[in-house]
Amino acid sequence: MGNSEWEYQNQETLKAWYQEKISGKKPNLAVRKIICKGCGREFYTQISTKKYCLYHLCGNRGYRKELSERAREARKDRVCKVCGKVFTPTRSDGVYCSNACRQKAYRKSVTDNQVVTKNTCLSVTEQKRIATRERS
Ligand SMILES: [Zn+2]
Ligand SMILES: [Zn+2]
Repeated sequence: MGNSEWEYQNQETLKAWYQEKISGKKPNLAVRKIICKGCGREFYTQISTKKYCLYHLCGNRGYRKELSERAREARKDRVCKVCGKVFTPTRSDGVYCSNACRQKAYRKSVTDNQVVTKNTCLSVTEQKRIATRERS
C-alpha cells in the first residue's frame, strides 16, 4: 500500500495530527491541509507535492478540468494580426487566421526587422534631441 492510499484511508488520523500541529502541540509535523484540485474537498497530507486527494480518483479529473478551461480560453475569437479578420483559433497561440497570413506576417517581420532597427536608432536620437531642446 502506497503512502497516498494510506493517507486516503486515514484522514481522521491525519486531521488529528494537523490539529495538533496548528494548536502548537506538535509544530514539527509535516502534515498540511490541501484542497483537492479535482473534487474540491479538504484533504490532509504529509506529501509535499500533493494536489489531489487521490491521484487516480481526482488527478485525471483535475487535469481534464484544466485542459478544458485552457481549450475554452483558446477557442475565444481573435482578430488576425495580418488581415484584421475575426477568426476562431484552432491553437491557443494562434494569432493569424490562416497559414497564408502567418506566412505573410513572417515575411513581413523579416523585412520589417531591418527597417525597424534603423527607425528605432533614428527615433532614439530624435528623442534625445527633443529632450535636450526642452531642457535648455
Ligand atoms: Zn479529490
Ligand atoms: Zn488573416
